[in-house]
Amino acid sequence: MSHNGLPPPSPACLWRPYSSNPNRKGGTLIVADVGDRETHERRRCDPDGYRPVTCPACAHGKLHVHDYPERKVLLLVLVRYLCPACGATWRMLPLFAAPMLWRSWAVVEAETLGPRPPPAAPRVPERTACRWRARLRTAAVLLLGVLREHGDATIAAVAAAVGEVGTRLQLVVAHAAAVGVQIAQRLARLAALVHGLVPGVRLM
Ligand SMILES: [Zn+2]
Repeated sequence: MSHNGLPPPSPACLWRPYSSNPNRKGGTLIVADVGDRETHERRRCDPDGYRPVTCPACAHGKLHVHDYPERKVLLLVLVRYLCPACGATWRMLPLFAAPMLWRSWAVVEAETLGPRPPPAAPRVPERTACRWRARLRTAAVLLLGVLREHGDATIAAVAAAVGEVGTRLQLVVAHAAAVGVQIAQRLARLAALVHGLVPGVRLM
């Protein structure tokens, strides 16, 4: 909490809705039912495995596999689709990969919400973990607006319960309790929800 009793504002990098850039062609689609690497590999190796039914930008119905970009830190190969009608490319991201944090959400969650990883597990540098925790202590107010405006009744009730002075961490906990999210998916599920409602908006 800062001196005025409010949580610190969230960093600007977490608020870049796709709609703020009219020249944007495509983006990332988080695929909520791909929760583990095995499912990801199976879907990635099938050209239809991740194919969106329609282009989210123009609703064209036949997207082509464009390329297979690599994410070196997570050692993941992703799939990108191209819309031949509008030229948008869509990068398909499995639920477990944390966009921009270069880790799996399970690792981020263990370092921030716990339970802490066993001592033998590869550890995240403490400076990185501190940055993640600091982000979760920032104000949830922008996310609350997204949930109230675009979410269903359950989600809107979660936003109302957290209240205007709540933190992102409080929102994560309230959302997980309200919709019954399992451990290790608490950050992933809320991040995917927010990005699905307003693409480009990040939890952390
Ligand atoms: Zn399109």
